[in-house]
Amino acid sequence: MTSAKTPLIGYFGDYGGRYVPETLMAPIAELARAYDKFSGTRRFRKRLKSLLRDYAGRPTPLYFAERLSRELGGARIYLKREDLLHTGAHKINNAIGQALLAQVMGKERIIAETGAGQHGVATATAAALLGLACTVYMGEEDMRRQRLNVERMRLLGAEVAGVDAGSRTLKDAINEALRDWVTNVRDTHYVLGSVLGPDPYPRMVRDFHRVIGDEARRQLRRQASRGWPDLAIACVGGGSNSLGLFTAFLDDRRVRMIGVEAGGRGEKLGEHAARFHGGRVGVLHGTRTLLLQDRDGQVAGTHSVSAGLDYPAVGPEHVKLAEEGRVEYTSATDEEAIEAFHRLAATEGILAALETAHAVAEAIKRAPSLSSRKIVLINLSGRGDKDVESVLEYDREAAKRAAKTPARRSVARVGREFE
Ligand SMILES: *Cc1c(COP(=O)(O)O)cnc(C)c1O
Repeated sequence: MTSAKTPLIGYFGDYGGRYVPETLMAPIAELARAYDKFSGTRRFRKRLKSLLRDYAGRPTPLYFAERLSRELGGARIYLKREDLLHTGAHKINNAIGQALLAQVMGKERIIAETGAGQHGVATATAAALLGLACTVYMGEEDMRRQRLNVERMRLLGAEVAGVDAGSRTLKDAINEALRDWVTNVRDTHYVLGSVLGPDPYPRMVRDFHRVIGDEARRQLRRQASRGWPDLAIACVGGGSNSLGLFTAFLDDRRVRMIGVEAGGRGEKLGEHAARFHGGRVGVLHGTRTLLLQDRDGQVAGTHSVSAGLDYPAVGPEHVKLAEEGRVEYTSATDEEAIEAFHRLAATEGILAALETAHAVAEAIKRAPSLSSRKIVLINLSGRGDKDVESVLEYDREAAKRAAKTPARRSVARVGREFE
């Protein structure tokens, strides 16, 4: 008999679980069994490791950002360069892992949801690599914002299915992908793109990404003569790149960790995607977690300049880590992220993804007050080529606003300085 104290499988404290309709229970259980059975085998690990190394480009460099560190005048800043992976972001770690699992399970088709398009591109890539059919669900608003990624997926042989429901963004794409999975479960595996959804996804996706922190630990030992940073910073959409970095350091109390959410353009509900500032406990897409919702308990609209952080719920493990005080959660506004984007480009020659720029913004706030003996480690989750249009549009709008309101001139000047 289980007592109330027995930990439930798939929970992180009170969060997580499998809140799915009956029709999804069987495929979820099948997936969990397969993951538990295969992921630890030598054969699976060897195959995954060799694909990540020879195909995706692991290990990614750990780079000491000397000019940025000097300019900020405080801590030494190191960047974990996930942006240099094939397809341009950390997402490929998980996409290849799950596609490989799908193949071992005998599935012939994989499906995925995508927001910014990065997970869709990574999944379409993994599908082509392993010879699987692929359909990617994407909200039509996101398709408009990320046209290039839509074309990339199509060129990779995937079908991109536009979703015209709700806010026509990520959460609606997940709904459609779940619907597809229920209907086609016999030959289809659903490659979920972050540490979200019902168990086993949150732990499985985390495990496929923990290579980020494991590598960083080894690289710091070699390059900085100690295997831990004083401060680790990552942006938090669903929360996969952050857990990928943090997991290796969770047991090391010397390491302080900060997750950065999308502060958007204000604190009002609907203007941001900061679940730790105004979210309440609820259930979305099969998991119990913190969720932005209105007073009726309906899922609230969100806003962020970066499509990849624009999701109303956060991965359940993050809520536990926040409750324990192990990880702190803060946010960066659209404006701060754009400034950080420009700053990293100008000082280090790196165009970071706008998601990533939120983490860089936090480092810019923290580093100056730290001593030069301290190490700040930022997970550079992706590259910013996909965001060039968004940045230009933001700067144009900011310049227009500034021209109208004299008080905001100084901000526009900062933006122009970097152009
Ligand atoms: C998708 C994405 C994110 C946000 O997702 P997480 O699951 O929170 O990591 C962050 N950065 C980049 C570059 C992304 O593509």
